[in-house]
Amino acid sequence: MTQPASYQHLIATLDQLPGIGPQAAQRLTDWLLATPAVRQSLQQALAGAKTIIRCPTCRRYQLESDACGHCANLDRSDLVALAVDERSAQQIKDRGFPGVCWVSHGVLSPVNQQGPRELGLNALSDSLATWQCQQLWLFLPDSVEGRTTEMFINQLLSEAEVEVHSVFYSGNDVAIAMESMSAEEASWGD
Ligand SMILES: [Zn+2]
Repeated sequence: MTQPASYQHLIATLDQLPGIGPQAAQRLTDWLLATPAVRQSLQQALAGAKTIIRCPTCRRYQLESDACGHCANLDRSDLVALAVDERSAQQIKDRGFPGVCWVSHGVLSPVNQQGPRELGLNALSDSLATWQCQQLWLFLPDSVEGRTTEMFINQLLSEAEVEVHSVFYSGNDVAIAMESMSAEEASWGD
């Protein structure tokens, strides 16, 4: 007897998640089928996620129905941080960054089909102009892709009147990189 199609479908769907292979996908499927409470909670969470979109200006997550809370009521929109993911953006804000965070959702990586378009870099200048940004701080992973992304952005903004600073961090942890910034750097040009 063959396995139910819905069982195979669940395995195939989980197999598409990054970092999960077919074996782990099957283990997760078996575990979910044995754990109804988590299955139900996952269903609810996924249904709720349908209303989450990326803000067209800052690319952070927001509810489709609301104005973006990250872009509203900015004290200092002249100061912008570029973060590669939502987690880093939150860490940057939690560490007292007074400006606004713009999220690229990745770094340039031809192997992973991540070009300037996928990162929204074609719209970065528009957002910076909207905010009348004077200073852009790039928080990027210290990798070939991170360095390439920095070069690309510097080139992209070479004509713009924006001061660009770069902070590279290793180990995927932007918070540690911020702690090791000098007091002068961390005053954000005040
Ligand atoms: Zn926004």
